[in-house]
Parts: sequence; structure tokens; C-alpha cells
Amino acid sequence: MQPFAFHRPSTIAEAVSLLRGDAKAISGGQSFLPIMKEGLAAPDTVVSLRNIDDLKGIREEGGRLVIGAAETHASVNRSSEVQRLIPSLAALAGGIGDAQVRNRGTIGGSLAHADPAADYPAAALALDAVIHTTKREIPAASFFTGLFTTALTADELITKVSFTVPSRANYQKFPHPASKYAVVGVFVANLPAGPRVGVTGAAPYAARWVAAEQALAASWSADAVGSLQVPTGTLNEDPDFSAAYRAHLMAVLAKRAVGACG
Ligand SMILES: Cc1cc2nc3c(=O)[nH]c(=O)nc-3n(C[C@H](O)[C@H](O)[C@H](O)COP(=O)(O)OP(=O)(O)OC[C@H]3O[C@@H](n4cnc5c(N)ncnc54)[C@H](O)[C@@H]3O)c2cc1C
Repeated sequence: MQPFAFHRPSTIAEAVSLLRGDAKAISGGQSFLPIMKEGLAAPDTVVSLRNIDDLKGIREEGGRLVIGAAETHASVNRSSEVQRLIPSLAALAGGIGDAQVRNRGTIGGSLAHADPAADYPAAALALDAVIHTTKREIPAASFFTGLFTTALTADELITKVSFTVPSRANYQKFPHPASKYAVVGVFVANLPAGPRVGVTGAAPYAARWVAAEQALAASWSADAVGSLQVPTGTLNEDPDFSAAYRAHLMAVLAKRAVGACG
């Protein structure tokens, strides 16, 4: 690793003012530190977000669930507010990686990193989340724009994420046996605006599965999504999991998720 200046500001404004040139923010470090160790990124300045209290907090606000960007996966999993309002989101957080990853990794870091196999993006899409940043509010539907790519600009920080509270929701993933990342993950939710289905792991970046949403709008039943045929053209393919297998998993996991909603 190359030498770098390290800052630990206590306010969002100070953090933003430090994000100049090739400076990078770091939150839990679970994704960015390995990248630095591999030499894939060598910022001259690293700005830790860990001491910024305004990036923390989990609360109900105007009927929505709001989670500070620096809240760890473990805190989301244990939060009584998350368990009360969106228990499937608490369960999702509890299924991320291992205890060390959950104790350090944060929801803001996960969304900003936009790993194609990360769990939160599926929930953000299915729960019509709004990503609040230091510059604007970005609907989840337009946040993920490519492989490890989001709508964020270099000096823009996620401050909090707000989620629609669903009448019912469930997340099912087929975890990679080594990392627990989603080979495919499907989050199904019934919102006041209609059914939503967010899929991660299957393609270069997380996206809503519109055909499944339409099938659930016509009939909210496990069979409505379990029989869907998924085109494999844009799906990920690797030596362990073919595109056809991922397509199969999408239908199977959607069926299980709807079934688990009760
Ligand atoms: C062994 C292992 C297993 C894992 N398994 C899973 C899994 O099963 N499911 C899953 O979803 N994830 C998994 N992860 C990833 C984990 O969830 C990370 O915590 C997460 O991807 C990044 O969060 P972080 O806080 O550590 O971000 P960091 O590593 O600190 O940062 C990641 C990126 O986000 C940016 N960033 C951080 N915070 C903000 C912010 N507030 N605003 C804007 N940009 C910001 C940073 O600049 C950096 O580019 C795993 C990681 C490891 C190491």
C-alpha cells in the first residue's frame, strides 16, 4: 500500500471538504481496504466516516424507515425499529458475510460500492428506497448505473437511506458458499404503489424485475413468479454458475420469497 494522509472528521461538512482530488471516503473498510491492499486504488488521502454522528441513527420518519449511512449491518440486523417495520430487511442484514463484516461494514458503504452480488441493493430497489446524499435525493431505481457504478459523484456522500414500509416483504438468496455474497438474491415487497421485486447477483448490477412485478400485480401468488421464464442474455456467467442457472434461481427464489410472505 502506498502512503496516504488519513483524516477522521466529526462532521459531514468537514468530510466533504476533504474529498478533493483523488481522496476517498472509507466507512467500514470491508470493501475498500482490500482494494487498496491489492493496489487497485491508491488514494493520497483517506477520509474515515466513522466518527460522524450525523451519519448514524435508525428511526421511523413520516411513516418511512430511515437508516443512517454509517450504520453497520449488525446494527441494522439488531435494530428494534427495523425488526418492527421491515423484519425482512433486518434478516437480510443478518445474512451478510460473517460477524466481522457485519460489525464493520455499513449500509452506506455497501450501496456506494454497488457490488453486483451485494444484498442491500435488492432491498433498496424493492422498497422504493431514497438515497439521501450531501447533494440530493436519489431514488434507488436510478442509483445503480453499472458494474460497481452508481449515480454518486466523487465528492458526494450518502448520508441516510429511507425505505417504504411494505405490507409484506421477504428476501431470499442463494449464498456463495465461500463469501455469503448472493449468487442470486431476490427481494419481494408489496408496497402501497404495488408489488416490487429487486434482484441482485444475477446481472452486472442490481435491478428491478418488472415481469415478476407485473405477474404479482395480476395475482400475488408464489406460482405467478415460480413459472416465469427468464431470458439469459444479460445475466452473469462464471465458471461456477451459468447464466441459465442464475435464471433458474431467480424464479425459484422469487417463488420462495412470495411463499414466505404468507
Ligand atoms: C469476506 C466478506 C464477505 C462479504 N459478504 C457480503 C455479503 O454476503 N453480502 C453483501 O452485501 N456484502 C458482503 N460483503 C461486503 C460488505 O457488505 C461491505 O461492508 C460493504 O460492501 C461495504 O461497506 P463498508 O462500510 O465496509 O464500505 P467501505 O469499504 O468503507 O467503502 C466502500 C466504498 O463505498 C464508499 N463509501 C463508503 N461510505 C460511503 C458513504 N457514506 N457515501 C458515499 N460513499 C461511501 C467508499 O468510498 C468506497 O468506495 C462482504 C465483504 C467481505 C470482506
